[in-house]
Amino acid sequence: MSLMSGFEKIVRQGEPLAMYTWFQLGGPAEYFAEPETVDELIALVRRCHEEKVPARLLGQGSNILVRDEGAPGLVIRLAAPAFCEIRVEGRSIVAGGGALLGRVVTTAVHGGLAGLETLIGIPGTVGGALHGNAGTRGGNIGQWTLQATVVTASGEVCQRGNDELIFGYRESSLDDLAILEVRCDLEEDDPRQLAQRMQRHWIAKKASQPMGHQCAGCVFKNPRGSSAGELIDRAGLKGTRIGGAVVSDRHANFIIAEPECTSQDVLRLIELVRSQVHDRMGIELKLELEVW
Ligand SMILES: Cc1cc2nc3c(=O)[nH]c(=O)nc-3n(C[C@H](O)[C@H](O)[C@H](O)COP(=O)(O)OP(=O)(O)OC[C@H]3O[C@@H](n4cnc5c(N)ncnc54)[C@H](O)[C@@H]3O)c2cc1C
Repeated sequence: MSLMSGFEKIVRQGEPLAMYTWFQLGGPAEYFAEPETVDELIALVRRCHEEKVPARLLGQGSNILVRDEGAPGLVIRLAAPAFCEIRVEGRSIVAGGGALLGRVVTTAVHGGLAGLETLIGIPGTVGGALHGNAGTRGGNIGQWTLQATVVTASGEVCQRGNDELIFGYRESSLDDLAILEVRCDLEEDDPRQLAQRMQRHWIAKKASQPMGHQCAGCVFKNPRGSSAGELIDRAGLKGTRIGGAVVSDRHANFIIAEPECTSQDVLRLIELVRSQVHDRMGIELKLELEVW
């Protein structure tokens, strides 16, 4: 039995991935699916498991660079309404893995629930945010997360409780295939004051990052006690270009993709920045961006 049979309605072959990522670069997925329901997702994951086809989740593609050759196996997007619900339950907010993080933040703020407002302006989905423990200096999603519902690589649905969840700097212990739903336990506060706080975070975020360009977020993680952007700046690399890929003048830890840029240009620029920072400062930068 092939991966497609029985799933013709939701699985496509050779779907270009560039349009699903913030970089807007890279080749197609071997297989690509947007299931409509949880049951459909589970059946598809089980089929992949049986057929030994590697599967992976794509959120909003704001932290991914797809190689020019594309991605082997199945790429799954949880864009259907069944995966994007957001509801407030007392002091908790419960959100589907495909829900946009920004919508979750504003729903919490309007509901008078504090904690997530520091995350305003971070693109992407709740699933992507939890996978990489998205955050800012003001906080991260993991610190508010009480529970996650996941689908494992073999197609089992499991709950991961507080005691099983470990969050670090841009990483989490959640390595299950798909994050289906997240419950965050927040603090009550005045919605008007919260909205003002959220706006201040939004303004600060807009001021610090290159907006309106084709790019992902920070390319490198901050090494302990220092800032990757500052190191790259001190190495004199702002504005450095390979093909259509340029180190941002505004924030040196961002790479901008100009027209005609390829993923290979970005990968070569990443290697150049990494080796120059290493040679000049003796510090090994690690990737925050994920390369597929
Ligand atoms: C302009 C800009 C600013 C940014 N600022 C910040 C910032 O301040 N702080 C910060 O932390 N990040 C920042 N980022 C990076 C990015 O927004 C975050 O990493 C975001 O959480 C990624 O979410 P996504 O849905 O786009 O995930 P993707 O990029 O699509 O995927 C990232 C990873 O998450 C996994 N994943 C996605 N959805 C699921 C799911 N449902 N279940 C399981 N795994 C899943 C993917 O398989 C992949 O491994 C920024 C990015 C941009 C473009």
